[in-house]
Amino acid sequence: MKKSKSDKKVYKKGFNLIEAYPITFSKKVEPVIYDDTAETFKIPLPNTKVEHIVINLCPTEPWTLPNSIAIENSAQELFFQLNSIRTQLFDGPHCHVVISTNERELMREVEALKGNGDWIHSYLRDPIYPHDDPVLLLNDILGLDLPFGQDSVEVGVLILDAQAVSGIFKYHIEGNKHSTRLIPISGTGLVENKILKVTPGTPLRLIVEGNVKEDIDYRAFLDGPLNGYEVKDFSQGLNWSTKSIVVLEEKDYKTPFPYMQLDKLLFTTNLMGEVRRCLYCNHCDDICPVDLEPALFWHCHTRGERERARLYRLEKCIECGLCSFICPSKLELLQVIKECKS
Ligand code: SF4
Ligand code: SF4
Repeated sequence: MKKSKSDKKVYKKGFNLIEAYPITFSKKVEPVIYDDTAETFKIPLPNTKVEHIVINLCPTEPWTLPNSIAIENSAQELFFQLNSIRTQLFDGPHCHVVISTNERELMREVEALKGNGDWIHSYLRDPIYPHDDPVLLLNDILGLDLPFGQDSVEVGVLILDAQAVSGIFKYHIEGNKHSTRLIPISGTGLVENKILKVTPGTPLRLIVEGNVKEDIDYRAFLDGPLNGYEVKDFSQGLNWSTKSIVVLEEKDYKTPFPYMQLDKLLFTTNLMGEVRRCLYCNHCDDICPVDLEPALFWHCHTRGERERARLYRLEKCIECGLCSFICPSKLELLQVIKECKS
C-alpha cells in the first residue's frame, strides 16, 4: 500500500534515513583476499554479570548490513545460536529482540519460534535514526537511563547485532578462531554498493581502492558519515567492530538543504570551511532525539563561551550528528558540540 504524506516518519525527534536514502547492495557477497592476516576475529566476553541481552535487528542507517544477509541462514539459526550463548556462556539472561517495522515477516518468524519461551521478548520498532543508539534503545526497551558514553555492560546489558551473535557463537562455542566479517560498502564514490567478506586486519586501502570510481576525489567513513570516523590512514587494518564503510565523492562546494536531495549523500563531503550564519530556523531543535537545542551550543562556541554550553544539558547529547545533517546553513554542529564537551 502506498504511504500517504502524513504517514512518512521523517525529522521529528529523529529521521527516517532508510526511507530518505534507500541503498541497495549487490546480492553477491564478494571476498577480499588478504594473505598476510595477523588478526583473528575477537569478541571478548564481559567479566560482569549479564542480566539482559538486547539483539538489535532494527538498524536505522541505510549503509549498515541488511538483516537478510546478516541472519546467515534463518531466524531459526539465530535463535539456536542466541539460546546457546545465553545458556552456555552466561547465566541464562533474558533476551530482547528488536525488529524493524520494515521486516514484519521476520517478526512473524521470531514470534513463531518464541512460542511460550519466557526468556525471549520481541519488539517492533520504526527504523528512525538514531533510535537504535544504546542510550535511546535501552531507555525504550528496559527503561534504563544510560549516560552517553557508558558501556551498557557496566549495567548488566549486552547489546548485539545478528552478526555479533553469530561471531560469538562461532568463536566461543564452536572454537572457530578464523572468522571473517561481512562489511557493507556504499556511497556516491563507488562504482557499486557491495557486501564484502573481509578478514579483520585487512588494510582499508585493499578494501576501498578497487571499488572506487576512477579519477575522483573521495572521503571514506567507518560506521557512517553522520557520526562515524573519517579514514585518515588507509594502511590501518579493518577492526572486528567496524560495521560499515561509506565512500563519498568529494565536492568543492556545500550543498544547502542536503536532506532534500534524496538520491545523493552529499552532506559531509565538503571542505570549504567558510563561516556561515545560523538562520534560527529551529530545524536542529526539531530533529534532536534527546530534546536539546543544538544552535545554543553553536552560539556559545562562536562567542568563545564554550563553558556556557554546559548550562544547556550538553552532557545529554548522544553525538548522533543529526543536527549537523539537517542544518540548512551546514554548520558543523557536532564538531562544535565535541569541542564544547572537551
Ligand atoms: S545535539 Fe547531539 S543528540 Fe541532538 S541532534 Fe545534535 S548530535 Fe544528536
Ligand atoms: S539548523 Fe542550523 S541554521 Fe537552523 S537553527 Fe539550527 S544551527 Fe541555526
